[in-house]
Amino acid sequence: MKKKNVDFSTYLVDYPNKEGYFGKYGGSYLDKNLQKSMDEITEAYFSIAQSRKFIAELRRIRQEFQGRPTPITHLERLSNSLGGKIQLYAKREDLNHSGAHKLNHCMGEALLAKYMGKKKVIAETGAGQHGVALATAAAYFGLECDIYMGAVDIKKQAPNVAKMKILGANVVEVTEGLQTLKEAVDAAFTAYQKEYKEAIYCIGSVVGPHPFPMMVRDFQSIVGIEAREQFLDMTGNLPTSVVACVGGGSNAMGMFSGFLNDPVEIYGVEPLGKGKKLGQHAASLSYGSEGVMHGFNSIMIKDKKGNPAPVYSVASGLDYPSSGPEHAFLKDLGRVTYDVINDDDSIEAFFTLSKLEGIIPAIESSHAVAYAMKLAKKMDHGSILINLSGRGDKDLDYILENYGTGEKK
Ligand SMILES: *Cc1c(COP(=O)(O)O)cnc(C)c1O
Repeated sequence: MKKKNVDFSTYLVDYPNKEGYFGKYGGSYLDKNLQKSMDEITEAYFSIAQSRKFIAELRRIRQEFQGRPTPITHLERLSNSLGGKIQLYAKREDLNHSGAHKLNHCMGEALLAKYMGKKKVIAETGAGQHGVALATAAAYFGLECDIYMGAVDIKKQAPNVAKMKILGANVVEVTEGLQTLKEAVDAAFTAYQKEYKEAIYCIGSVVGPHPFPMMVRDFQSIVGIEAREQFLDMTGNLPTSVVACVGGGSNAMGMFSGFLNDPVEIYGVEPLGKGKKLGQHAASLSYGSEGVMHGFNSIMIKDKKGNPAPVYSVASGLDYPSSGPEHAFLKDLGRVTYDVINDDDSIEAFFTLSKLEGIIPAIESSHAVAYAMKLAKKMDHGSILINLSGRGDKDLDYILENYGTGEKK
């Protein structure tokens, strides 16, 4: 498949280029010291992570520890409730160990850290999901783990903080500024600058400076590789459409990478939150503009001064003012369609999937479910494969407090 001179049969090797660019997006915007340590990670990634030994070990871990391959489930009752013309399917990343797709890249990053002889992994976390996944990987490999987290987020996300500590991680409270994710990123980068000889920074999505958007995509590509083969095996065909939610964009890139060279429509779903006004959503690709933040060039939501603006979504995992540079590129190419789902529709989909299929999805993943349900009503034949990025256990307290148990009134 070709689009604007991009040959998708060799796309995953061609992009990003050596400097980490997907077209004009991506790259690495860091000071010299940090750049040196990023270069070290890039080199290690190309030499170590492509070695037969590394690949074999990661494969074994995916099977024995993570529980991969995760299945695809035919959502038959949901499909019937929408008229039965379109068949919906879910790739069950909610069944990945620790309940979401994030462990796919955290296990890869931590294994790379081990091969590089590092003793520690460092990261920031907002809602705590990345922190928990990385703490899980660190415990498995016997690495120290420092997770930087804003003081406000620490209070809000008590269960995830407890999980990280139980897993042996050191949760470092950040008290600067608004005491949330942005300050946590700054603090984690500062710490990494001091400790880069013995530590490695582990980014939680397909964002940040090169090589992370590439590396995280590659570690997540297991989702798309499995899904394509499983779907063909189950149905004899490729899906008509593939749908995934986009925060930073890692679960989406993992799924999309498996289908870029196929005649398959691909949809990325961003959170519209409470509406289109600045501050009420986190749909960066839909409403943002080009800019540099956190060491990379992409499309982002900016305030009047050009800094990352405050964003909002009911799904804390989608609450980020930018998305990965590769998504910005695929959007410009027209290969992936990006669209939005608001809080209310995602919550409705949360209850619908729970009650019709016995699967309680994460509120992030519910955005993809809601979009697939809308899409099914517009199509007249075919199938939709949803990437169900995670399970909803983490969201239950919030759901109960704000929406109850979803009984029809
Ligand atoms: C973190 C998270 C997301 C968003 O992250 P991406 O990098 O966009 O995939 C989506 N779903 C779940 C369940 C998450 O925990």
